[in-house]
Amino acid sequence: MRVRAAMSTGAGSDFALTELELDDPRPDEILVRTTAVGLCHSDLTARQYFPGGGVLGHEGAGVVEEVGSAVTGFAPGDHVVLSFDACGLCRACLSGRPYRCREFAAMNYSGARPDGSTPLRDGGSPVAGAFFGQSSFASHCLATSRNAVKVDADLPLATLAPLGCGVITGSGTVLNALRPFPGSSLVVFGAGSVGLSALLGAVVARVGTLIAVDVVPERLELARKLGATHVLDGRSEDVAGQVRELTAGGADYAVETSGVASVVATAASSVPEGGTVALVGLGDLAGTITLSHYEMVMGRTVMGVTEGNSVPQVYVPQLIELWRAGVFPFEEMITEYPFERIGQAVADSEAGRTVKAVLRF
Ligand SMILES: [Zn+2]
Ligand SMILES: [Zn+2]
Repeated sequence: MRVRAAMSTGAGSDFALTELELDDPRPDEILVRTTAVGLCHSDLTARQYFPGGGVLGHEGAGVVEEVGSAVTGFAPGDHVVLSFDACGLCRACLSGRPYRCREFAAMNYSGARPDGSTPLRDGGSPVAGAFFGQSSFASHCLATSRNAVKVDADLPLATLAPLGCGVITGSGTVLNALRPFPGSSLVVFGAGSVGLSALLGAVVARVGTLIAVDVVPERLELARKLGATHVLDGRSEDVAGQVRELTAGGADYAVETSGVASVVATAASSVPEGGTVALVGLGDLAGTITLSHYEMVMGRTVMGVTEGNSVPQVYVPQLIELWRAGVFPFEEMITEYPFERIGQAVADSEAGRTVKAVLRF
């Protein structure tokens, strides 16, 4: 079928609106009419991997139009939120940790299905697709039962779309990985959509002292509104010292979302002996981080977290329940754009004017 898509062509390229050809669903695939898709930071960085043309987008939400012959549990008309993909067969997947899937890169970033084929074509030439098992910067996309989460049809899909990646990544880092004790202290570095989702998770977990660090004043203002008890300008002197001051010696937990190596070191210096730092920001994939040997020996823990250690089919419904109950107001981060204005959404996100852009079809 013909689909309307936003195609990128390498690092920093614009997302050009175009018409492409999408395969019919294979036996294990689900054809989804995309009604909304969130813009996640990885959509911007991943452009570099597909210089020959690719369709990104991995926070899709929409309505099932058709299911392959082997698909069970989904039917046309179902509303779904799409999340990351995992093989379902490796040791990590089989032990309930799809976010540690051994095939994670092949399943999500390769620009193709696990067998190397792409479901998208421009004229006769293949276009990289199946990004995060969806490539949802398009009016229709192919997913599978592995990465589709069924949701109630009365819920606004444009609000739910970011649950597929950014919101589960941030909040899951707190609720699934760190599991802070009520009344403890936590500092979040970076108040973008992942950092603010972590903050919202910390509010749900009844963290006592909750500090947000960022360099954009509007984001710190939003952090306060969402429950931060303190906010710090990331450019100010001795941020780690300020955190230790506010938390009587160090925050029990730190969540690092910026991916900047120097901020990782600051985060590690912000927790006391026994404290834990969760690294979420990707940053420079070829880079290294330097930590104080002494600080680590004295009992600090550094853990890497991907996709908030989430099992989407379990965790997304839990977050929807919290949202319905009014205790997880992640919609405060969202600015909606018509799909055609994806360029504006990217510009606003890069400038820090928009925290979480959601494109609507
Ligand atoms: Zn796996
Ligand atoms: Zn993402």
